[in-house]
Amino acid sequence: MSVARIWRENRSRYNLIGNTCTVCGQTFFPMRTVCPKCHRESIGKMEEKPLSGMGSIYSFSVVHSAPESFQTVKPYVMGIIEMDEGVKLTAQIVDADLEAIAIGDRVKAVFRRVREIDSEGVIQYGYKFIRLNGEETG
Ligand SMILES: [Zn+2]
Repeated sequence: MSVARIWRENRSRYNLIGNTCTVCGQTFFPMRTVCPKCHRESIGKMEEKPLSGMGSIYSFSVVHSAPESFQTVKPYVMGIIEMDEGVKLTAQIVDADLEAIAIGDRVKAVFRRVREIDSEGVIQYGYKFIRLNGEETG
């Protein structure tokens, strides 16, 4: 896969761009071409919706048996994040203290290196989440 193609296919993921059905107001991420609720009514009425990157931890689990590409960071935490726009997504939660992570914690998306494609030396980037602890430190 070419670098250009990777970037093209991941544009909305890298930038956390979802879309909203302007008929019923529901937001989706990743984007959908048609709203599953409004079907034909939503055709041509889906608008791009950049997500704020802010959300709360809906659930999470500590992963101890890591796949090869995560060897350097295990154990790590995978969470389901409920974004402020109402969509849920799965991503890694980065925290120095894994024991402190709790359901309901406020988190924000950060842009990080996620893995390397060794055959071509292409490094992929994507979002992870960090906890705010009630206070945004930037
Ligand atoms: Zn809809």
